[in-house]
Parts: sequence; C-alpha cells; structure tokens
Amino acid sequence: MPELPEVETVRRGLNQLTLQRKITGGDVLLNRTIAYPFSAEDFLNGLKKREIISWHRRGKYLIAELSFLEEDKESHCVAEVPAVRASGATRRETRGKGDKETRRQGDKGTRRQGDEVENNSSPSSPSPPSTPSSLGVHLRMTGQLLWLPQDEPLHKHTRVRLFFGEEWELRFVDQRTFGQMWWVPPKVETQSIITGLAKLGADPFSAEFTVEYLAEKLKNRRRAIKTALLDQSVVAGIGNIYADEALFMGRIKPETLCLNLRREQIKSLHSSIIKVLKTSIEAGGTTFSNFLNVQGVNGNYAHVAWVYNRTGKPCRNCTHLIERIKLGGRSSHFCPQCQE
Ligand SMILES: [Zn+2]
Repeated sequence: MPELPEVETVRRGLNQLTLQRKITGGDVLLNRTIAYPFSAEDFLNGLKKREIISWHRRGKYLIAELSFLEEDKESHCVAEVPAVRASGATRRETRGKGDKETRRQGDKGTRRQGDEVENNSSPSSPSPPSTPSSLGVHLRMTGQLLWLPQDEPLHKHTRVRLFFGEEWELRFVDQRTFGQMWWVPPKVETQSIITGLAKLGADPFSAEFTVEYLAEKLKNRRRAIKTALLDQSVVAGIGNIYADEALFMGRIKPETLCLNLRREQIKSLHSSIIKVLKTSIEAGGTTFSNFLNVQGVNGNYAHVAWVYNRTGKPCRNCTHLIERIKLGGRSSHFCPQCQE
C-alpha cells in the first residue's frame, strides 16, 4: 500500500510532468473509481479544458489545483454539496454525517495550521485554496498514476485515462479497485467533497506535527503504539512499513501501550517518524509491493529497511534476529534487543 513517501514521490513526478498542460478529454473504464461527481461523464466534463496548476499532498491524498475557466464565473455552485448517494460502497468519502461536519468547517474557512507551511526543503505541501476546482486522487491499496504515451497498450487494470492533447495521458491503474478520484467543482470547499481530508491528523511535515501534538494524541490511550501510528487521525500518511521503521529508530516495541510511553520515547518517536519518511522520499519511495513512480520506476528504500519484512534476519544494529508479531491484524517487525 502506498504510504506518504510513495505518494509524495508521485506528487513530485506529477509536478514535473503535468503542469500547465490542458486536460483535453479522458475515458473512465471503471465507473466506481470516480467517487465524485456521480457520473463519469460529469467527472470528465468538469476536468476538460482545465490546466493543472500544481499538485499538493495531504496525508496520502493527492490534490491537483486546476485552472479557472470563463464559465466558472457564471457557475452558482457555491458550497453546494451534492446529495449523498444512498448506495454504493465506493462513495465512502461523501457519505454520512462526516459530510455535514466538514461542510460546517468549510463554511468557516477552517484550515489546518500545518497547511500554511511550506518551504523548499520540506516534502510537505499545503492544501490548495478552496476556490479553484481540483482533482483529488487516493491510490488506496494498489492505485498507480502513470504518465504514458497514449499509444501505450492498456494494462488490464486501467481504470481511468486523462488525455493531455494528442500524445500523452495520465493513466490510473488499480488492480484492487479501492482507489478513488474526485473532481471538486470551482468555489466548492475541497473537504466538503473529499470528506476524508477533514478526518486526517497532522501531516508529519507540517508545523502542526510537534512532540506536544503527538504526546496529546497518545495521552491515556490504552492501545499499542503501532496501532496508533496506523490511525490516520493521529498522524496522516503512515502505514505498516514506516510505522515499523519509525518504532525501530525510536527504540520502542510495537506493542507498547501509548499510555506507558515516556516523554523521551515520544520525542524520539517524533523525530524518527520525520527521519524515516524523509529518507524514503529521498530514495524515491519503497520497492515494496507494486509501487511505481509516475514514470513506472521502483524506489529503493526497501533495500535499507531496518526491520520491515526482515523476519529472521539479523538486526542491522545488534545482529539479534528480527521478530514478527501480529497487532490489530497487521504484521509488526521489530528487534527484541534494540526496542524496549
Ligand atoms: Zn537490534
């Protein structure tokens, strides 16, 4: 499953390849990939003729800010959140009471503190302003965004194609079909359509993600720290690989209950999270699973993993064999000697 470093790697690739290019058309091969609007035709019509201004990331969400069109001026769809579709498991993000909650937040123009922060050295990027129209993508389990010539033969798991002129396309390939795409109309708060954004905790590269923030999120919680790290409302973007790696670097056993963590352990974990994610981004993401960057190239972080997927192999720090336990249904890899 792509985690923050992989999504960030994809974002950087998209920013190099797709900006200032006009979407001229597209093809939706699997309707349920489109989470909003409810018809594939509306999705493609919404995107058509717009240029991509820039790609942003929030946790594992990718959001492309799109250019305005003349006709946007006449549109009266201000904060008009669509009726929630009654059925269909693929409409997860626009369903239920979260929708109302995020609409209220949107009306107030609420923005996370971390969104305001960006500098050249940080892999973080702020959410786009709420007014332009945007394209949202979540890769979920197996989604891939690939920048390809249009005559490249279609992979059988191709779900959506977006054409940029006659020659190139952005192709969404997704074997497990959990991936989602949204077109957010102009003048509509992004979080009112992509409601999952409102539930995200701090992005590890935002100013909001401090030791204090992490301590507060873990305070009095009687659950394993590994499980807490996978909770996107605690920290956005971390999955199984980087949770294991950050816990190793922070010298904390994955099953340690949050409420038993000492202050210095939380401090160590906080810096380990940032460090492990940065290292992986610099390596271009992992080779784990089928992750590919937008040009179809694997990253290489997996070659230097401390514990992830290394059960029975010697610890790179102390040579004790790496062990694996199940926590919340997920495999956790750790060194019993280096982690306490
Ligand atoms: Zn060790």
